[in-house]
Amino acid sequence: MSRISRRDLMRMLGGTGVAAGLGGVFSARPLRADPASRADAPPGTPVAGTDHPPAVMIDGKVIQPERELPLLHETDVLVVGGGSAGVVAALAAKRAGARVALVERYGHFGGLWTGGLVVLVIGHWVTGNKQVCQGIGEEMLQRLEKLDRGIVNRRPGVNPTVDAEALKYVMVEMVVEDHVDVFLHCWGVDAIMDGNTIRGAVFESKSGRQAILAKQVVDATGDGDVFAAAGAEHERRRYHLGLVSRIGNLDKVDQAKAKKSPRKPRHLGNITPIAGVNWVNMHGPDADGLDVRELSQLELNHRRQIWKNVEELRSTPGYEDVYLMETAPQLGVRITRALHGVETLTMKGVLENQKYPDCVAVGGAWAGDHQEWQIPYRALLPRNVENVLAAGRCISGEPRMADLIRVIPNCFITGHAAGCAAAIAAQDGCLAREVDVPKLQKLLREQDAYLG
Ligand SMILES: Cc1cc2nc3c(=O)[nH]c(=O)nc-3n(C[C@H](O)[C@H](O)[C@H](O)COP(=O)(O)OP(=O)(O)OC[C@H]3O[C@@H](n4cnc5c(N)ncnc54)[C@H](O)[C@@H]3O)c2cc1C
Repeated sequence: MSRISRRDLMRMLGGTGVAAGLGGVFSARPLRADPASRADAPPGTPVAGTDHPPAVMIDGKVIQPERELPLLHETDVLVVGGGSAGVVAALAAKRAGARVALVERYGHFGGLWTGGLVVLVIGHWVTGNKQVCQGIGEEMLQRLEKLDRGIVNRRPGVNPTVDAEALKYVMVEMVVEDHVDVFLHCWGVDAIMDGNTIRGAVFESKSGRQAILAKQVVDATGDGDVFAAAGAEHERRRYHLGLVSRIGNLDKVDQAKAKKSPRKPRHLGNITPIAGVNWVNMHGPDADGLDVRELSQLELNHRRQIWKNVEELRSTPGYEDVYLMETAPQLGVRITRALHGVETLTMKGVLENQKYPDCVAVGGAWAGDHQEWQIPYRALLPRNVENVLAAGRCISGEPRMADLIRVIPNCFITGHAAGCAAAIAAQDGCLAREVDVPKLQKLLREQDAYLG
């Protein structure tokens, strides 16, 4: 079968939208889509039915007709993804004086840190209990400290645990105080490209399919959804994929009974700021966090497994009153896509204390068990696409680096660097790869980031 471009196909379909003129090559079938007007119609307005140009099927794929997208917003810096990296990036860019839009697919901020119930913050420290992850992420932890039951184990050299709800609240407070433009329930589905330069992104929400235009884009989706859509070189990886839960009533455990029993409890998890409540991590099997079938199957498996684990715990003498408080609404997807950046972080570089002239962040260790390591700006920069920066767990690093890159404080600091860089590029009217690095480093230090 001869190949035909999508544009040619649309021209051939023309106004009639009938595929018969294509000599029976296509088995055409009109599909119904939602009315394009739904984004524009205020409540109470009768909406007339719409005649759609039909989609067609070709080689088992659906080809949709070209569509005009309403403009949802226009800004200097667009941050897609409101996890630990994205929220910090948005605040950093806003504090640097840029207009900033922060777009998140769910109804809250924090990503895996809150929605994934991954509440243990590992990686602030390096040898000698020196704290390297500072700046806006550190400010969040300080705010949590002021709240009743916001955080526990907040002392030098120890990894603190936060309360997910307190953290969601803190993030909302910070984003609102700094007047970041927020779009929740909005899923980034495509990049808007002009050659190899990004101009914004396309979002799906209850308002329909809409566009946000921006001078600079920060991809803080964790999964690199935007840089992948923009055509940036990257690597797709399988990684352990679990589901975190919380259990309650641990303060009601009958310790005397438990002590006497030969059976020891399993799946107990670790403490949270709420007395009697533990968070329970799950490693899970290696899986493709971008494959909807695998995600669905794992969600089903993990939910059954967690319930069984709690039943087993409850059948342990002394633990009869323990109960399942909640399973995380968000699956524990650790690593999916990693950018192929201009520079790639390596474990050798970490262990040999590699220095970079464009250092924009200094990473911590899992348990303060090694020296600080520098993160160059180029690890956030795609090789082949302009004006989109990676932040958080999807920046450029070799597979062995994934466990270091992805811990929460290391996501703060790459978010911080990406937000400041995007603001400078937007204000200076330059490409992200042309950002004046000393200026970026100065701005980061002014915003209390630690660069060594
Ligand atoms: C089970 C598990 C256990 C872990 N344990 C620890 C631990 O003990 N300590 C530790 O420090 N780290 C731990 N981690 C790692 C850490 O939690 C994450 O790597 C880190 O939170 C990632 O932050 P991020 O901002 O890069 O990405 P995410 O937290 O994934 O944030 C991405 C955000 O973008 C949104 N988003 C995604 N796609 C789109 C889209 N297309 N459009 C709009 N929005 C989008 C998401 O909803 C989310 O809010 C663990 C991770 C997992 C999964």
